[in-house]
Amino acid sequence: VVDLGMPNRTVLTTCAYCGVGCSFKAELRGDELVRMVPYKDGGANEGHSCVKGRFAFGYATHPDRVTTPMVRDSIDDEWREVDWDTAINHVATRFRELQDTYGQGAIGGITSSRCTNEEVYVVQKMVRAAFGNNNVDTCARVCHSPTGYGLKQTFGTSAGTQDFRSVAAADVIVVIGANPTDAHPVFASRMKRRLREGAKLIVADPRRIDLVRSPYIEASHHLQLTPGTNVAVVNAMAHVVVTEGLVDESFVADRCEEFDAWAEFIAREENSPEAVEAITGVPAEQLREAARLYATGGNAAIYYGLGVTEHSQGSTMVMGMANLAMATGNIGREGVGVNPLRGQNNVQGSCDMGSFPHELSGYRHVSDDAVREVFETLWQRPIIPEPGLRIPNMFDSALDGSFRGLFVQGEDIAQSDPNIQHVHAALEAMDLVVVQDLFLNETAKFAHVFLPGTSFLEKDGTFTNAERRINRVRPVMSSKTGKHEWEVPCEIAEAMGYEMSYDHPSEIMDEIASVTPTFAGVSFDKLDKLGSVQWPCNEAAPEGTPTMHVDAFVRGKGKFVATPFVATTERSSRKFPLLLTTGRILSQYNVGAQTRRTANVAWHPEDVLELHPHDAEERGISDGDDVTLSSRVGRTHLRAMISDRMPVGVVYTTFHHPDTGANVVTTENSDWATNCPEYKVTAVQVGLARHT
Ligand code: SF4
Repeated sequence: VVDLGMPNRTVLTTCAYCGVGCSFKAELRGDELVRMVPYKDGGANEGHSCVKGRFAFGYATHPDRVTTPMVRDSIDDEWREVDWDTAINHVATRFRELQDTYGQGAIGGITSSRCTNEEVYVVQKMVRAAFGNNNVDTCARVCHSPTGYGLKQTFGTSAGTQDFRSVAAADVIVVIGANPTDAHPVFASRMKRRLREGAKLIVADPRRIDLVRSPYIEASHHLQLTPGTNVAVVNAMAHVVVTEGLVDESFVADRCEEFDAWAEFIAREENSPEAVEAITGVPAEQLREAARLYATGGNAAIYYGLGVTEHSQGSTMVMGMANLAMATGNIGREGVGVNPLRGQNNVQGSCDMGSFPHELSGYRHVSDDAVREVFETLWQRPIIPEPGLRIPNMFDSALDGSFRGLFVQGEDIAQSDPNIQHVHAALEAMDLVVVQDLFLNETAKFAHVFLPGTSFLEKDGTFTNAERRINRVRPVMSSKTGKHEWEVPCEIAEAMGYEMSYDHPSEIMDEIASVTPTFAGVSFDKLDKLGSVQWPCNEAAPEGTPTMHVDAFVRGKGKFVATPFVATTERSSRKFPLLLTTGRILSQYNVGAQTRRTANVAWHPEDVLELHPHDAEERGISDGDDVTLSSRVGRTHLRAMISDRMPVGVVYTTFHHPDTGANVVTTENSDWATNCPEYKVTAVQVGLARHT
C-alpha cells in the first residue's frame, strides 16, 4: 500500500469505460492521482459510480505503457524506438508510397470509441482530406452500427431517444439483449430504483440475467428466447398490438407514415405468438401478456444492448423495436422511448463525428452534394461522393491485395473482431499497419509502427454518452508521450501535404460545431458553464435536448418498416449442437487491456464458460473443469462454470482475456445492413479438454 497522503487539488472529468459517462472528481496530491470521487452534480451519474470508474484507473500509469514511438520493417523484427518526427515522417512517406503504387483507396483508418470526439474527428478528417478517400470506419461497426442504421430509417437520426433520468417516469421497462447490472451499472441502479417503486419489467434474454430475479426485483416476464430470434419476438409483440386493437391510433395518424402496409405485414399468421413460439421457444401466452403490458401499462420504455445489434438481423431488430414504440405511442415524452445502452464511453460520439465510410459528421451521407460542399469549402479538398470501405471490407481487400495500409486508433481489432484467424491473415497481408494505443496490444503484434496514445487522464476534450450527453474530459496529468493524441493525425496529414493544425482541442470542437447542425451550439465554454449538454444543441435548443422527437420525428414522420424474421444461417447441428452467446462482467471491460492492468483483474482473472447442468452432465463436465470450445472456424480452452442461469442448449462466455479468446470461435456472419458481426450466435461444441 502506498500512502499518498491527502489530496491537494481536484480535476473534474469523465469516466472512460462505459457509455453511461459518469462524472468524477479526480483528487490528486501533486502529480499522483489519489482517488476518483463520483461527482454529485454529474448529469449522467448524480454522485454514483461503479468499480471500474472508481477504482480501475491504475492502468494509466502501468509500467506496460509504451510512451515512445517505435518502428520496424517487418513484424518479425524487433521494435526500434524513434523520435516523434521520425515516426510521423515514416508513416506519411509509407502511406504516400502505397497510394502511389496501389492507388488512392489502398489505405484507410479506424477510429476509436475510447478516444475523444476531437481525436476521432481529426482521424476521419485525415482520411478524407489527406488520404483523399472515405476508407474510415469506427469500432462501433462491431457493436452499435445497426442502431445507427435502424433508428435513422425509422426516426431519422442515429441516437437514443431519452436521457437516463427518463427511466424514473417509466411504468413498464423492457430490457432486450442487455445486462445493465454488469455492463451499465450506474444506469442499472436508476432502473432498479424505479423497479423497486413498482414499475413492471419485461426481460428478453436467453440467459437469466440478474435483473430477472434479484432482491426486491422480479421481472413480470422473462422471454427466454433462443439466440438469434429477437426479430420474431418483437414481431409477435407487435402482432398482438395490431390484432388486439391496442394501437395508439391518434399518435400513428398524426406522427407516422407507412403504417397500413406495416400493419398488413405484422398481422400475418407467421408473426402470431403461436407461430413465433415454435421459432423462439417463448410460450405464446407469455408473448401475448408481455405485449399487452407494454401497450397498456402506461409509459413503456425499451432499453437494449448488443444482444440486439450483434446479429445477422441486428438492424431489422432495431427497426422492429421502433415500430413497436411508434404503434403504441411510446415516443416523444419522458418515461418512454427506444434507448441503446452504448458499450464504450464514446460510441455515440465516434459515430456522431463522421467515422462511418458513408457518412460525414451528424450522420449525413457522402452522396449529399450540399453537405459535401460544406466540408469541401472548409477543408479545401474534394470529398468522394461514394462510401469507402467498412472494417470487414478492409480485411477482405487486404487479402485480395488491394488494401495495403491501415491506421488504427485505440482499437484492438486482432482480439475484438470476429473470426480472428481471418483478421490476423488480413493484417499480415498489409504492407503498413500503424497502431496508436497505450499498450502493445494484440493488434500491435501485426504493426510496423507503434505510436503511443494517451489515457483519459491525459486527454482534453469531450466524450458523448449513450443519452447524447457531451461531457468534458479534462487533463488530470500531463501527457506521458510528449504529445497530445489529437496532434498525431494532424501531423501525419501535414507530412502528407495537407495543412491541418489546431492550437487546442476547443478549436477542433469549434470546427465540428461549424459543420454539424446538431452540434452547432456546442463549445468548450458552454460545456464548462453548463456541465454537459445533450445534442441536438443549436439555435433551436441552446441548452440541449434531453428527449427527442417530442413534436415531430427528426425525419418528419416516423416511418414504419416491415421487419420479416429471417433465421440466421448459424444453426446448431450434430457436430456443433450448442449455441454460444457472449457478454461482459462488471469488473472487466471489453478486451481487458485496461482492467487487466488494475486490481479489478483479481475479481475475474479468466473468462469462463457458463453452461446448463444438463449440458454439462451429458458431456461429463464438472464445475471448474478445463473444457474445449469449438466452432466451424476455431477452437479454444476455457474453465467450465455450471449455471442454471443458462437454458439447455445455450452456453455463454465473456471476452476480456486474449488467452481464451472467444473470437477464435465466432464466425464471419454479420448484420445484413451494416456488417456488424453476429457475435451473439455461434454454433459450438463443448467437451472435456484432454491433456497429455
Ligand atoms: Fe464508468 Fe460506466 Fe462505471 Fe459509470 S457505470 S463509473 S461510466 S464504467
